[in-house]
Amino acid sequence: MPIDRTFRETWTIVNDHLGHPVWRLSENATIEIHGSRVGVDFSLCYGCTKCVNACPTVVFELIQDESGQSVADPEREDDCILCLVCEIVCPVEAISVEREGGSDDTLTSLLEGTRG
Ligand code: SF4
Ligand code: SF4
Repeated sequence: MPIDRTFRETWTIVNDHLGHPVWRLSENATIEIHGSRVGVDFSLCYGCTKCVNACPTVVFELIQDESGQSVADPEREDDCILCLVCEIVCPVEAISVEREGGSDDTLTSLLEGTRG
């Protein structure tokens, strides 16, 4: 299942990590999304580094989560230029970039074209 793209409206900020928010569906939930402008679902990310290497503005930093799993942390999400490349290259749809002006349809078409 891909990242919940509604997390900015439906999840709660429970923490701050290096200047970006950490979201959970509820206080007791264990799944975390890091970032706001660029959200990464840490339960889906397996540290393949595709987004890390593809991002033109070096938003991501590969870190280890509490279980020792490598994950892409959007540490410099303020530098994001909304190119959506990270969403396209992520094999497990762990990333959701905030939309400006509603480009969901365009992205969906792109993803279907690249994954079909
Ligand atoms: S949308 Fe583009 S600039 Fe923003 S984090 Fe993803 S790859 Fe980097
Ligand atoms: S491309 Fe996806 S799975 Fe790979 S490191 Fe980035 S967020 Fe994680």
